[in-house]
Amino acid sequence: MDRPVTQVIKARHQTEGGGFKIRRPLPSAGLRYLDPVLLIDEMGPVDYRPGEGVGAPDHPHRGFETVTYMLDGEFEHRDSAGHAGSLLPGDVQWMTAGRGIVHSEMPSTRIMEEGGRVHGFQIWVNLPARLKMTQPRYQEVAASSIPEAVSDDGLARVRVIAGEALDVSARIDTHTPILYHHWILQPGARVTQSLPIESNAMLYVFAGAIESAGKPLVDGELGILGKGDTVNLSVPVEATDAAQVLLLGGVPLGEAVVQHGPFVMNTREEINQAITDYQQGRMGVIQQAG
Ligand code: MN
Repeated sequence: MDRPVTQVIKARHQTEGGGFKIRRPLPSAGLRYLDPVLLIDEMGPVDYRPGEGVGAPDHPHRGFETVTYMLDGEFEHRDSAGHAGSLLPGDVQWMTAGRGIVHSEMPSTRIMEEGGRVHGFQIWVNLPARLKMTQPRYQEVAASSIPEAVSDDGLARVRVIAGEALDVSARIDTHTPILYHHWILQPGARVTQSLPIESNAMLYVFAGAIESAGKPLVDGELGILGKGDTVNLSVPVEATDAAQVLLLGGVPLGEAVVQHGPFVMNTREEINQAITDYQQGRMGVIQQAG
């Protein structure tokens, strides 16, 4: 049975971190989170002139995972565990903050100096209570290593960051079952994709427009999906542009969610402990490059 669209949420424009512009469909006034996905930020697209680039300087996280997916431009990250790297278009960084990390996420030096376009996503995935204090972990996957599949008629293409689509399985290892697909749908595309019945799921349209189970969703809309074992995606044949959609979700954890800024725990006491640990430097500090 196709999952119906049970709620439609419009992403809000806002400013985050050091001043970068995002569209945020989740959380929203109508929905705090869709267990286990806590947040969806579309970063840009923004075209920086030289010297204008902004990002998120040193800040902590504890108790969940941040997943960064670049579409355009370059990000450089650096953290308190001595880890540093760059993200290029199509690359994914799946960071398990676990017990705590301090990191910075900034446009690359080249974009800072020369200007350029930045567009990407960061989503936050919750961790179950038993893993909130796990050792921090990175999975960095280059664009060329993200599995892709194309429908038989060539009109639908999917990049499989987590989960399975068109008989292709993701390479990234997730702590609990997660869905993260990027669909690119040409006019006339029509796909029915099976989904695990126990997973929550939603569709975020960030270019063009689609229909799912008879319901239209346009650029900037998040469609929450109801019960079912398939999701149906289509683009009218008379559409002028391709549509781009993230399909996100996972098996719900069913635990209490207590969030304070960059910390997501199960109780107020654990949040207070996270604040104390951060203030006392127990999540580390970023060493400046030589
Ligand atoms: Mn961060």
